[in-house]
Amino acid sequence: MRRIEVTCILCPVGCRLTVTEEDGEWKVEGYGCRRGLAYGLEEAQNPSRVLITVIPVDDGELPVVPVKTSKPIPKNLLLKASKALAGLRVKAPVRLGQVIARNLLDLDVNIVATRSIKARRDRVEADGQK
Ligand code: SF4
Repeated sequence: MRRIEVTCILCPVGCRLTVTEEDGEWKVEGYGCRRGLAYGLEEAQNPSRVLITVIPVDDGELPVVPVKTSKPIPKNLLLKASKALAGLRVKAPVRLGQVIARNLLDLDVNIVATRSIKARRDRVEADGQK
């Protein structure tokens, strides 16, 4: 028999769930509503997370832009996904929601900016003088 314990994070109640599997039959106990039942099964069968990180910005008013995956990815691929983003850079300006990288690890997931970053003022002025 397989058994995991997990806290439901879908609302502030934080129900403590016990998920068990025996002979292919999954059972969730401890949930306060149907959302917790689905969450418990997902966490046991296919845990996934949104990857949140930062990407260096060239010529930006800030040195990095925070980014995240457009949807959750399998938890066991988080490290591989982080490594795949190593070395990636983006040039300012960056727009909120801008796609920074497409189809990460062939998962049909994009990396998107979660804030805007303006170009450095001195770069904008230098470009204006060209
Ligand atoms: S099971 Fe329902 S009530 Fe309990 S923490 Fe999850 S969402 Fe909230």
